[in-house]
Amino acid sequence: MRKLLFLIGLTITVTTQAQDVTKLKITILSTMVADLKGTGEWGFSALVEADTSRILFDVGGRPNTVRDNAKELNVNLQGIRQVVLSHNHIDHTAGLSTLQKQFPDGATASLLYTGPNFFLRTAIPVGILKADSATYAAAGSQFITIDHPQKIAPGIYLTGPVPRQYPEKNYPPGKTLTISGTTIEDNVPEDISMVIRTNKGLVVLTGCGHAGVVNTLEYVSKQFPGEKIVALIGGIHLLDAKTEQFDWTANKLKALNIQYFIGAHCTGLNSVYRIREVTGMTKENCLVGTVGMTFDIDLGIKTGWLK
Ligand SMILES: [Zn+2]
Ligand SMILES: [Zn+2]
Repeated sequence: MRKLLFLIGLTITVTTQAQDVTKLKITILSTMVADLKGTGEWGFSALVEADTSRILFDVGGRPNTVRDNAKELNVNLQGIRQVVLSHNHIDHTAGLSTLQKQFPDGATASLLYTGPNFFLRTAIPVGILKADSATYAAAGSQFITIDHPQKIAPGIYLTGPVPRQYPEKNYPPGKTLTISGTTIEDNVPEDISMVIRTNKGLVVLTGCGHAGVVNTLEYVSKQFPGEKIVALIGGIHLLDAKTEQFDWTANKLKALNIQYFIGAHCTGLNSVYRIREVTGMTKENCLVGTVGMTFDIDLGIKTGWLK
């Protein structure tokens, strides 16, 4: 029996090592609140550095914010060939052109990952119009549509479109979209999130979380059965949520027993504090995201001066 258990343990260990990321650092380059360095804005961007992969997740809300914040924070964006655009709202896509111009050899933004139906919107808050996509293609970038959960680098996955199991409606109300001749509510159908599978558990990175943060996390749990979500980082758009929805969301996060939460961008300040209160998290592991804040899978959350 002892030998059998040993063999089973060995098999699991080997499998896990082959699939997981062992080093992970996520640096926030754009969000509402700035700290000691950089500038805050309405937008989101984060650099994901996982083992040998370096991937930019969203590119900020103004043309130069990510470029300038990265420079001030001493974060090198040279050589990045993978950029994820969580959805096509301008506060997540506006920096793309600047970044591409800064690295005209195509070293940045060679592969641009989006969800399907990314180019349906024709007016603000659209970020990149279908017509503009040709400009990026001409400069050496390629749009890749992620229509199902997919691995884009060792241990790094994108969710693809997330089923809207619960009516969370974490998106701007009153907007419409036309899909195949039918006009529907614009529930940001292209919204996708990133999952990094580390040897300590799953880390989920969201842009605005328009698909609903609980919808997203439960979908991730289904894709990785039996694996624990240790951290949630990004915007989860609870700005307009009523108290009952804050509490419903916070209780769902509590049930998932997430160890770290960085509520950035459109999460809302009060939402972060309410989630901290309900989940029993602390000011060390549940924080409002700031420009320059980092999450390291071994070291946890590192802030600047702002606490
Ligand atoms: Zn958005
Ligand atoms: Zn946003």
